[in-house]
Amino acid sequence: MQPVSTKPFSYETLPSSGHVAYFSMEIAINPAMPTYSGGLGVLAGDTLRSAADLGVPLIAFTLVHRKGYFQQHLDRAGIQTEEIQPWDPAKFCTEEPARVTVAIEDRVVNVRTWRYDLQGSSGHIVPIYLLDTDIEGNSGWDRGLTDHLYGGDTNYRLQQEIVLGMGGVRMAAALGHRVNVFHMNEGHAALLTLALLERQMGGGPLGAATETDIEQVRKMCVFTTHTPVPAGHDRFSVEQTARILGGDRTARLEKFGCFRDGLLNMTLLALRFSRFANGVALQHAKVSRQMFPEYNISNITNGVHATTWMSEPIQKMLDEQIPTWRLDNLYLRNAIDLPEQAILAAHARSKEALLAEVGSRTGLVFNPRVLTLGFARRAATYKRADLMFTEPERLQKIAEAAGGLQIVYAGKAHPQDEPGKALVQKVIEDAARYSNDMLRVVYLEDYAWDLGALLTAGVDVWVNNPRRPYEASGTSGMKAAMNGVPSLSILDGWWIEGCIEGVTGWAIEDGANDEEEANSLYKKLESAVVPTYLDAPERWARLMRNTLAFNGSFFNTNRMVKQYTRNAYYPMRLTVQTNVEEEIFAD
Ligand SMILES: *Cc1c(COP(=O)(O)O)cnc(C)c1O
Repeated sequence: MQPVSTKPFSYETLPSSGHVAYFSMEIAINPAMPTYSGGLGVLAGDTLRSAADLGVPLIAFTLVHRKGYFQQHLDRAGIQTEEIQPWDPAKFCTEEPARVTVAIEDRVVNVRTWRYDLQGSSGHIVPIYLLDTDIEGNSGWDRGLTDHLYGGDTNYRLQQEIVLGMGGVRMAAALGHRVNVFHMNEGHAALLTLALLERQMGGGPLGAATETDIEQVRKMCVFTTHTPVPAGHDRFSVEQTARILGGDRTARLEKFGCFRDGLLNMTLLALRFSRFANGVALQHAKVSRQMFPEYNISNITNGVHATTWMSEPIQKMLDEQIPTWRLDNLYLRNAIDLPEQAILAAHARSKEALLAEVGSRTGLVFNPRVLTLGFARRAATYKRADLMFTEPERLQKIAEAAGGLQIVYAGKAHPQDEPGKALVQKVIEDAARYSNDMLRVVYLEDYAWDLGALLTAGVDVWVNNPRRPYEASGTSGMKAAMNGVPSLSILDGWWIEGCIEGVTGWAIEDGANDEEEANSLYKKLESAVVPTYLDAPERWARLMRNTLAFNGSFFNTNRMVKQYTRNAYYPMRLTVQTNVEEEIFAD
């Protein structure tokens, strides 16, 4: 574990009391609040849930997203349409009296906040502040700045990022919180560093800022990057930045090295002002270091919040078999010794719940004894949702050999992602074209939290086949693992760390192109998945308990938040020094 700079960071320089302030553009707080779009928001929510369980002194900032992300409708032909999701923050949150302002273009924009109290199993509360510009005194445009998650154009986005980053820092102070660590969950929140630097300068001009001032800000900031795709990083033009953020600030950011290819790069900004940075899986950290070779980027592999994603039957079975698992998810390791019947029976009940949902949504009767695969992702093209249909005749043969095969799909395409929408349509067309008595394929509408939980717990195998190396981590396979469900996946993201062939699932082998990788997918189904499922229930049970023991015990946010706390927020001296021996023997 190494700090971003070569200068050692010392634990002793941190004040001993205060809060970590966690900033994220999206947070999946509650299934009834449409404040998230997908993986990043679910991870943020799971992080906060585990922080609350563990009693970590943490507060969080996000935007209220009054109109949500979007509700997905799919017609018979597979055409996606979107509907806004207006919701009432007052039903879930308390409004705080505090008010702050931020400057956007030449306007002063007022910001208020709602507080949601997230309570952990320990009773500890993590307050989540949802910033809101829909207040009197703001123009109609400004009142809409906190309406749409990932809506609008890049102008809208940059203005939202000012509200989140700069508004959030000021709001934390206005609320009276003492913050000693600012955690940027993805570059969307990177402008918080600018607010901190301005505070460091007493509000004075940034032109006078020295390396010492920057160092003061760096001492407080940590950053997690989530995207291995350059286009996935927020970038803004000089013209846009100067117009929205101001000419002086833009000139300073350029001077501080936060521009690349003539664009303000939010990842560079966050890296420049952080004492610790990490990617979200081992492989992702490597890719990130190649993208930003001047920075030291560590890795803390993602996880999921166990009780959020485990089905009731699995939780109940574990309560009987491994009573300590709730306190410390590491005890899931003991699943290695679970009675085979206990895990098979619990899974059968999770599968029933999923198939009942499939039935009520589609009218189709799925057979609980038939091998069922799940695939649900944001419908970005690199995730290749249609890979399974590369050779339909071969898929049909596999279904026949297995005595039937059922596949459940779900996933939303971003409203502006036309290729993603076309992919959804293609999978829905394929599902209709190739479904028959032996092969049943459905695409379920409006993939969201509840459906995600039912799917990952209820299928027999979780399938994931993105194009490498675009998957930073991926978390839905971890949700499946929490339920003892093995994965059949490309060796990318977390699966490089989680796959033990034939023990926790199977790897789709790296190929030179889509056809080769589809071939490997079929081969694994033919030679490993189907035979094991059909002929050897006791082997299947062992696969399930290995998955829970090896992967459930590690790929959880209980472990992950402990790593953030010890390695990023409040590092012990030994864990952050580049030269450990020197440090041990120096004093
Ligand atoms: C878990 C989850 C995601 C993220 O899944 P990935 O595997 O990380 O892509 C997205 N949407 C919903 C509704 C989820 O539950």
